[in-house]
Amino acid sequence: MSRAQELRDNLARVLQRIDEARSAAERADPVSLIVVTKRFPVSDITILRELGVTDIGENKEQELRAKAAEWDGEAHPRVHFIGQLQSNKAAAVARAADVVHSLDRSKLVRALARVDRVDPLEVLVQVCLDAEPGRGGVAPAGLDDLVDEVAAEPALRLRGLMAVAPLGGDPEVAFARLADLHAGVLERHTEATWLSAGMSGDLEAAVRHGATHLRVGTAILGSRPSLG
Ligand SMILES: *Cc1c(COP(=O)(O)O)cnc(C)c1O
Repeated sequence: MSRAQELRDNLARVLQRIDEARSAAERADPVSLIVVTKRFPVSDITILRELGVTDIGENKEQELRAKAAEWDGEAHPRVHFIGQLQSNKAAAVARAADVVHSLDRSKLVRALARVDRVDPLEVLVQVCLDAEPGRGGVAPAGLDDLVDEVAAEPALRLRGLMAVAPLGGDPEVAFARLADLHAGVLERHTEATWLSAGMSGDLEAAVRHGATHLRVGTAILGSRPSLG
């Protein structure tokens, strides 16, 4: 089977899963698919675009810049940066990405806001649902302050929240908690409507708990090449 056929079949299966999850959850609002293309070549992104994919996710600044250089000047996908972000890489990411999902500390507010852009950078605040910090995300106790800080920064546009389900935990429990946190944020920031949650293995649970954006990699592209 050609790569194009493989991606077409996998994409169709994932879109069907999303449709079924929306029906089961009785959701009439749209759920956006971000195809996570990290560690896969630009040729796959080209195929995905031909299949109608508009949004991709990347998690490394260097890889994103290398890919962006290849599609420079041409119509390019909307890029979501979903990886842990170091503040010294923030400027490069703010230039190459359209949306950053992984803002999780004050220092990044300042670093991302400093970059000159035509439009404000769209930003999600990542919240940590793990018992222990370490995989990124602000602890729930610090969420409100960080969200306020982003909302007050004119160079950034607060869009909502992002989270990853804890490893080995129950995604239902994690995403129910996330939905609660999101409801709290929405009370104070009605513009923060996006909820980025759900990956290949847990997208149904995420849709059930109100995810508006799913980040799906392996279910569409196959298992990722290991880091070189
Ligand atoms: C890699 C990654 C994904 C995609 O995960 P899959 O299990 O391959 O669908 C989603 N979100 C984040 C933050 C990731 O790093």
